[in-house]
Amino acid sequence: LKTIAVLTSGGDSPGMNAAIRAVVRNAAYNNLDCFGIYRGYQGLIENDFEKLGPRSVRNIINRGGTFLKSARSKDFRTKEGRQMAFDNLKARNIDALVVIGGDGSFTGADIFSQEFDIPVIGIPGTIDNDINGTDYTLGYDTALNTVVDAIDKIRDTASSHDRLFLVEVMGRDAGDIALNSGIGAGAEEILIPEEDLGIDRLLDSLHKSRKSGKTSSIVVVAEGDQIGKNITKLASDIEKDLPEYEIKVTVLGHIQRGGSPSCYDRVLASRLGVGAVDALLEGESNIMVGIQNKKIVYVPFETAINIKKTLDFDLMRVADIVST
Ligand code: ATP
Repeated sequence: LKTIAVLTSGGDSPGMNAAIRAVVRNAAYNNLDCFGIYRGYQGLIENDFEKLGPRSVRNIINRGGTFLKSARSKDFRTKEGRQMAFDNLKARNIDALVVIGGDGSFTGADIFSQEFDIPVIGIPGTIDNDINGTDYTLGYDTALNTVVDAIDKIRDTASSHDRLFLVEVMGRDAGDIALNSGIGAGAEEILIPEEDLGIDRLLDSLHKSRKSGKTSSIVVVAEGDQIGKNITKLASDIEKDLPEYEIKVTVLGHIQRGGSPSCYDRVLASRLGVGAVDALLEGESNIMVGIQNKKIVYVPFETAINIKKTLDFDLMRVADIVST
């Protein structure tokens, strides 16, 4: 192993820069050459490479997003596109690739690696925390803190006006952000894709909390929840049933993807970035570097991609109890 390359792919997340930095620096530490590839797989196909040394990655540990930029690439889904990608790597004598991204990026990586017999290592970078085999993904902790901070501000105005706020957070398939930020911000109810609460149970619960003396409420809704998918309809359904509340909807949207990474995400990124280069030096391929019980682990792409991560259902119980 002499030369490696690193790219970021799919949705960006805070901590990606810190992970690139760690990959580049562990490469230098082990006397490997390292290239950065701009715009993910699309830049790989379009030959958008830059040689990176330890000083190329200074002053980025604290920055959100990814300085290498990210993209979604249709061309990489085709054999011809992947052939061009491989030719570009070979032209620079690049022996291995580190891909920072989500499960889609890992699927592409897995196909590419097997097709051309080139080692590829993945680093889980997505705010959703929806990748099996790792307790945390890069950017998740930062996103949680962003959401809790936003809900704290919403709570101030909710309590001043007897309002009920529906706060939509990211999570098409995974309720991790909703559940944890909901507990952390003291939400009355948390709607997640993994559990269909049903409108009747939600209304019943809101009535109960109103009777118990609550005058304002915050309901955290993951975007992929069954009844929360159409949040405007949900708001009008609640309004009909609970006319004493003024219902407001806040969609947090892309602010959840931005911002300076939390210390936890920076340390995680550093560990995963170092771990990815260590894995290549150990001869590993087609694995994601993840974290389980505070230890770095190697997880086959197949396990990371094809098995759905299970939600911690005890958190649901805790959420129910603390919102009484
Ligand atoms: P996020 O979780 O933020 O959505 P992701 O990595 O899952 O991130 P995707 O858009 O699903 O994001 O995938 C990123 C890129 O990976 C795609 O644009 C495509 O280039 C590549 N990719 C995904 N699936 C495949 C596939 N089956 N074959 C080849 N390439 C793929």
